[in-house]
Amino acid sequence: MHFESALCCYYCLVSVFDVAIVGGGLIGAATAFELAAGKLRVLVLDRREPGREASWAAAGMLSPGPDSPDALPLVPLAKESLRLYPEFVAAVEDASGISVAFTRDGALEVFLAPHGEAERDAVIARHRRLGLPIEPVSLDAARKIEPSIGAAVRAAAWLPEEATVDPRLLTDATLEAAGQRGAEFRVGCAVTSLLRDGDSCTGVIAGGECIAARHVIVAAGCYSHSIAGERENDWLARYVPTNPVRGQMVALQPSDFRLQRVLRSERGYVVPRRDGRVVAGSTLEDAGFRKHVTAAGLRQILAAAVEMVPALAGAEVVETWAGLRPGTPDSFPILGPTDIEGLLIATGHYRNGILLAPITARLVREWITQGKTSFDAGIFSPLRFAEGTPNSPARRGASARS
Ligand SMILES: Cc1cc2nc3c(=O)[nH]c(=O)nc-3n(C[C@H](O)[C@H](O)[C@H](O)COP(=O)(O)OP(=O)(O)OC[C@H]3O[C@@H](n4cnc5c(N)ncnc54)[C@H](O)[C@@H]3O)c2cc1C
Repeated sequence: MHFESALCCYYCLVSVFDVAIVGGGLIGAATAFELAAGKLRVLVLDRREPGREASWAAAGMLSPGPDSPDALPLVPLAKESLRLYPEFVAAVEDASGISVAFTRDGALEVFLAPHGEAERDAVIARHRRLGLPIEPVSLDAARKIEPSIGAAVRAAAWLPEEATVDPRLLTDATLEAAGQRGAEFRVGCAVTSLLRDGDSCTGVIAGGECIAARHVIVAAGCYSHSIAGERENDWLARYVPTNPVRGQMVALQPSDFRLQRVLRSERGYVVPRRDGRVVAGSTLEDAGFRKHVTAAGLRQILAAAVEMVPALAGAEVVETWAGLRPGTPDSFPILGPTDIEGLLIATGHYRNGILLAPITARLVREWITQGKTSFDAGIFSPLRFAEGTPNSPARRGASARS
């Protein structure tokens, strides 16, 4: 018997859960919500207050389009998740009684270079090949959609089906909804180790207590790799090579106009919130686990925002923050069962974890309850890093936009 299992027998193993989820961000919460519907006994463990890491920091754009050719393999998963969103939001709002500000108002992609139209046409061709709705629009037409667009914009494309959600509301609502369905929570309870008995994962150690579970899901965002960093968990490291990618954000409160739509350029984005605030982002930084806002980061974000929407120059800065995206070596999520029985990974969502929450939750439920999935997510398997398969190139930047 493995050393940790022996310890466990000594201390406790009083209750056995069907599923223990490590991490109560949006991914852990959505997964708990989905699994608890199937009458499984689900436990979510979070080392802090749940929902206060990357999921709290996000902009909330639900944008399945690729921002580079490297990102193409992610698009089918992203499209499927966007398709599931209305149903997911309705279920969460119904169970929690919390509105999550889901809107399908479309987005404008704007181009600032002198030859912006050529760039725009290339983006349109790429989107259309992927079956993503997109239209070229004249600058006059773009200003009818969003009157605040500035003179620096040289060309624009309209993405009518893009949506947004308030990620803080959504995460809180999903946690509440999972609780309403019977999921249990341990807050301020860091998982320090996974229990392993031969080729099976049999639970977790958290707060010095052994907790037995038939299935363990690692959904600890960019910290997933840190669990593996514990000496006794070396074996876990090969499945979750996550790294933190810092993103800074600014919230602005304009007093004399209201932004209607998401605007995005290659330099940044602005996202309207229901209360009139505008959330502007973001940076992509390798700063370790340091989660502070910097002068250079704010300058970059504000310059990009004001370039698209000059009227934002007079807006009040009402909040700044930073979050750590769960990056991976190839910038794709890590989803699915491992070759350790009972151990499943749902992390590494990098810039798209808000968008990908519904499909992630559904896939995890199908893996656990049916042993197979309705959507082929094989390219995102945790085994791709372990085995050095063709799907394991160590490259960065393959993702959408946030
Ligand atoms: C600035 C910024 C903007 C973004 N914008 C968008 C966007 O517009 N659209 C989009 O789709 N995505 C966006 N993202 C990405 C998205 O936020 C993430 O991919 C997503 O939130 C990841 O969710 P998660 O639940 O995996 O991780 P997290 O939300 O980070 O949650 C992980 C949880 O695990 C807990 N935890 C960690 N270690 C342990 C442990 N040992 N034991 C117990 N619990 C532990 C943490 O406390 C935390 O609560 C953005 C991210 C950032 C930073």
